[in-house]
Amino acid sequence: MAEPTTEKLKCAYCRDEITDKPVKKGGKVYCCEACAFQGSQAKACDGR
Ligand SMILES: [Zn+2]
Repeated sequence: MAEPTTEKLKCAYCRDEITDKPVKKGGKVYCCEACAFQGSQAKACDGR
């Protein structure tokens, strides 16, 4: 999906609004490296 980067981003893990620089990982954005780590781990074994 092509989403405009000017839109408000929300953390894919904690759903917080990302007002600082987003952390991109695995095609998703997170508010911080900690969430990026947790988020990528949480879906790692989902099978999709
Ligand atoms: Zn977060």
